Amino acid sequence: MKNFLNLVIGIMSIMLIFSCNQDLDLPVEDTKASVEQEQDLRTCGHAAHMDVLMQNEDYRVLRQELMLNLKEEAVDVESRALCSDPVVLPVAVHYQGVTSPNATCLIALAQSQIDILNQDFQGTNTDISTWNSNASYFPGVSNGETCIEFVLANTNHPSGYGLSNGDLAVTINQTTGDQDSDWSGYINFFVQPNTGLLGYSPLGGAGNGDGVVIDANAFGSGNGCGSVSPNSPYNLGRTLTHELGHYLNLDHIWADAGCNNSDLVSDTPNQNNENYGCPSIPQSSCGTNDLSMNYMDYVNDACMYMFTNGQSNRMENWVNANLTNVSSNASTVISGGGGSGGGSGGGTPVTCGIPTQINATVTGTSTTTVSWGAESGAIKYRVRYRKVGTTTWSLKTVATPSVALTGLQSGSKYQYRVRTRCASGWTPYSPLKTFTTQANPGGGSGGSSTNTIKLRLKLDDYPEETTWELVDDSGDVVDFGGPYPVSKANKLISKTLSIPDGDYTLYVDDSYGDGICCQYGNGYIKLRDVNNVLFANHNGNFGTYAEIDFEVYDNVAEFGGGSSDDAAPSLVQKTRVVGSF
Ligand SMILES: [Zn+2]
Repeated sequence: MKNFLNLVIGIMSIMLIFSCNQDLDLPVEDTKASVEQEQDLRTCGHAAHMDVLMQNEDYRVLRQELMLNLKEEAVDVESRALCSDPVVLPVAVHYQGVTSPNATCLIALAQSQIDILNQDFQGTNTDISTWNSNASYFPGVSNGETCIEFVLANTNHPSGYGLSNGDLAVTINQTTGDQDSDWSGYINFFVQPNTGLLGYSPLGGAGNGDGVVIDANAFGSGNGCGSVSPNSPYNLGRTLTHELGHYLNLDHIWADAGCNNSDLVSDTPNQNNENYGCPSIPQSSCGTNDLSMNYMDYVNDACMYMFTNGQSNRMENWVNANLTNVSSNASTVISGGGGSGGGSGGGTPVTCGIPTQINATVTGTSTTTVSWGAESGAIKYRVRYRKVGTTTWSLKTVATPSVALTGLQSGSKYQYRVRTRCASGWTPYSPLKTFTTQANPGGGSGGSSTNTIKLRLKLDDYPEETTWELVDDSGDVVDFGGPYPVSKANKLISKTLSIPDGDYTLYVDDSYGDGICCQYGNGYIKLRDVNNVLFANHNGNFGTYAEIDFEVYDNVAEFGGGSSDDAAPSLVQKTRVVGSF
């Protein structure tokens, strides 16, 4: 593909690439059945689109500048602004190739898509509740709420499009392609028929007339308008949420290349591959549960419903660093809102109050109850909390003005704050407060309790290659096992470990360097606590070693991350030590 500069040819290449990725052997022009099969799988062309863009010298220079801006502007997650005053980004929607267009219908469809974007980006989508009920599978991950609002421009339109002041910035059959410099200073959505994929976007847009391309059968929700009609399962407007994530500098959650590649977002677990359809939760790869419900995975619209806090931060940084030409245009092209340089926007003011009379009652070594005074007009409340010295917030959403926090570390200081959700939106968070959990009886490590942890290690065809060791935070090996005799091939090794409170790392090593799954068997590693709660689940697909970090206090274990590698010489050395037991 590197030899082609022409975008059309590039797009054809994208289709070929995706065909390969999805094991679709039939050419696109083949039978109807093959076409339907292709449409079953989400296809996003952002990576291939970037390959095409990066062939262009001007674009490479622009991208270099954008990344430098980002480096200078970037703030970390901890100092993210509270969202009392969202940055407003004006939007224009360009329908292309529509036969017999119904303008009224298309304008309403555009507005409904914008509404979906605002819900998804601000974390006010109704199915965020599904995340709340699954969040316990993802320790350290909180859903994010960007302080960004998308508004269809409605005044001072570029000339030549027949748009008057008061009209929404929606054009029909008046643009072509994926860029139009007349529409610089806007986020553009180019709705095209028969794109061959669901959409694509540059990774990190520039607001220079560029934008997101989206297929006419994946735009908006509802009945659609003739040929511009969303088709199930991409009919809830989430394809644009995904592509706009790319435009605001988010990579795919699996980073397009396995466990060792990160999407550069600190709170998204590494993931081996994309997920399709509607996966059950949890499913793990890379030693952690896949965040398949993230907007940057490939699942059906109905089964994606959250950005993380880190992703929200990354998008806000991009807006602040590189899209001020768009945000500052808001006051010019949006009447009745928009503010100056990203002011108050078209939203109504928040009418209920920030929680007050906030108190924390420490109820144990791992539990604390936070309560506050009820606010009139409150629909629900959200509590953020984290151990002092850590970077990621945990999050609880409740309908009543009180919540019990569990699974805390003993003798540890926590920060917390609360916000209210009313009909008009979220209030800012209350000022930070702190509490300290009870220390373990006896004080210090001397009084630690003993915890029961169950290791389930399924071996592959070559058990003689497999060893494991459990190491505490002083580096001492507290237990170990293997290598195992040939008679244990494909057998499940069960081991109950009695260990004191503390932080641990479990290493499972394969002396041949091909893991315990999947070419020669289907091994795995699972860790459960005394109540049989599965807190770590590795699919065995690693190279020389898999590493699983966890902490356990008062018989409550929490997964703390992990990694695996198939090319880590220093750790290969480590496996030799283990293997000599
Ligand atoms: Zn994508």
